[in-house]
Amino acid sequence: MERPGNYELPLSVTLREVVMEHAGGVSGGRALKAVIPGGASAPVLTPQHLDVGMDFESLAAAGSMGGSGGVIVMAEGTCMVKVGEVVARFFHHESCGQCTQCREGTAWLHKVLARIERGGGRREDLDLLLDVCDNMTGKTICVLSDAAALPVASYVQYFRDEFEAHVRERRCPFAA
Ligand code: SF4
Repeated sequence: MERPGNYELPLSVTLREVVMEHAGGVSGGRALKAVIPGGASAPVLTPQHLDVGMDFESLAAAGSMGGSGGVIVMAEGTCMVKVGEVVARFFHHESCGQCTQCREGTAWLHKVLARIERGGGRREDLDLLLDVCDNMTGKTICVLSDAAALPVASYVQYFRDEFEAHVRERRCPFAA
């Protein structure tokens, strides 16, 4: 962002106002690719969602959530498979291991995302990711499992072409 920082704003602002006005837009004038509106556990939004209100109900209706309020903005050129790998690694590390769905699910998400990013992914891995996410949602003692699964599922949902390109080309298309 041109002006990254901590902003205290009313819930009546839109995501566009937060990103484009208060934070000054994507640095270097690059195009906006994706926004995570509420920290790593929030499902991703895309430029088509920029006019969503930042209140809890509007973000939920758009398929995401306000969460921690930590807005993460990604420019064109960001690899969403790599984003998924980083997010999955974090939640795998954070899982306390009590629930099988969370302990095994976060490990599988990280393992599968890492191999797709390395160029070793298989076509069936995309549906495998969604299946693992589904098995992790709404079935555990606390919501960490959901917090790990929902964002990964959203990356596959909105950027499936990108995941398929990694598998087809057997490499990360965004790698230098
Ligand atoms: S869902 Fe919560 S309680 Fe269950 S293993 Fe994950 S962190 Fe632990």
